[in-house]
Amino acid sequence: MKLANRMGLIGTETAFEAAARARALEATGRDVIHLEIGEPDFDTPRHISEAASHALLDEKMTHYPPAVGIAPLRAAIANDVKRWKGIDATPDQVIVTPGAKPIMFYAMLGLINEGDEVIYPNPGFPIYESMARYVGGVAVPAPLREANDFRMDVAEVESLVTDRTRMIVTNSPHNPTGSILTPDDVREIARIAIEHDLVVLADEIYGRLQYEGEPLSIATLPGMAERTITLDGFSKTFAMTGWRLGYGVVPDWLAQTFSRLVINSVSGTNAFAQAGAVAALTGPQDSADAMRTEFIGRRALIVEGLNAIPGVSCVMPHGAFYAFPNFSSFGRTSNSIADHLLYDAGVCGLSGTAFGSYGEGYLRFSYANSREKLSAALERIGESLAKLERTGELAHA
Ligand code: PLP
Repeated sequence: MKLANRMGLIGTETAFEAAARARALEATGRDVIHLEIGEPDFDTPRHISEAASHALLDEKMTHYPPAVGIAPLRAAIANDVKRWKGIDATPDQVIVTPGAKPIMFYAMLGLINEGDEVIYPNPGFPIYESMARYVGGVAVPAPLREANDFRMDVAEVESLVTDRTRMIVTNSPHNPTGSILTPDDVREIARIAIEHDLVVLADEIYGRLQYEGEPLSIATLPGMAERTITLDGFSKTFAMTGWRLGYGVVPDWLAQTFSRLVINSVSGTNAFAQAGAVAALTGPQDSADAMRTEFIGRRALIVEGLNAIPGVSCVMPHGAFYAFPNFSSFGRTSNSIADHLLYDAGVCGLSGTAFGSYGEGYLRFSYANSREKLSAALERIGESLAKLERTGELAHA
C-alpha cells in the first residue's frame, strides 16, 4: 500500500516527539525536567472551567454548534480583538476553530496554489513551512538572526518577494525565539504586502505575553484589514491548551472560504468548551495577568542562569515563554546538544533545528515550568556542559 505523494511534503512538530522520548526515559526511572513543551504549567482559571461545566451539565450544550462558532463567543472575540489589538471586526469575520492551528491550515488551503510562495520566519513554528509545502506551495524562509534580535529583517523579506509570492507569515511575540516585531517592522511588512498584493497571516497567539513595547496588530494599519488573517487563541493566554480553542479574524471575502473548510474538516468546535471561552474573555482577567507576571520573573531567572554557564549565551526574549540560547561555541549540532542534555542531565529542551534550518546553533527551552525546576535544570545543564568540555563525550540514547 502506498501513501499519497503529498505526505512526503508534510512536516511535524518535534516537541511532541521529544516529549515522548523524555517520557520513555522517565519510564526507566530517570528524573527529567521538561522544558520542551510550549504550554503554560498553570491550571485553567476556575471560572472558565465552571462556565464550561455549567454549559455541559445544565445547559446541555451537547449538540452540533454552528460551524464557525457560537454567537456569544464570536461577539466576545470581536470585542476582545478591539480591546487588545485595536482591530475593528464584526462577529461574522470571526472563525472559531479547535485550537488555532487549523487557521494556518485553512489559510494555506484556501489561498495557496501549486507553486505559490509563502514567506515565513525561520526559525519559526514548524507548521507554517509544513502546511505551505503540503498544499503544494513553496515555503520561502525569512531567516531570523540573533544579530537582529531575532526580528524579521524587513529589507530581506522584501528581497524575497517574487511574482509567485502570495503570503507572508508573521509571528510576534515569536516562537521559538521570544522576539517581537517593532511597530516600524510591522508598518514595513504592511507596505510590502500592499505593494505586492500579498496576504498576511499574523500569528498573534502570544500577543498578551509581550513584555516590552506596545504590540501593533498589522490588521489595524490602513489597507491591511482586507488582506490580513489574524490568528489567536486560548491555549497560551488562559492556559487552555487541552481545550483546543482558537480563532481567526479574517476579511469578509474570506469568511465563507474558512466556513467551508471548517464544515469539510471538523464541522465545528466543541460547544461547551466555547462557553468556557466566553467566560475567559468576558470574566476576570486576574489569573491571566498573574501568569504573565510570573513568566516575567521566570524569564529573568532562566536568561540570567543560561548566561552564567560558560559557553552559553542567551539574548533577552521580549515575549512568549521561551528562551533561545546559543550553544554554537561547543562546536556540536543543536540536535546532539539537545540529546546530550536529555540523556546526561535529564533536561529536555528542543533543538533549534526543530524550528527550521536557521535554528542551528540554538536550543529552545520553555520557561513554562516552576522556578524550582528551572533552577534545578540550569544547574544540571551547567554541570553537564562542563563535563562535555572535560571529556568531549556526548551522551545519547
Ligand atoms: N502559533 C504558535 C506560534 C504556537 O506556538 C502555537 C502552539 O504552540 C500555535 C500557534 C497553536 O496553538 P493552539 O493550536 O494550541 O491554539
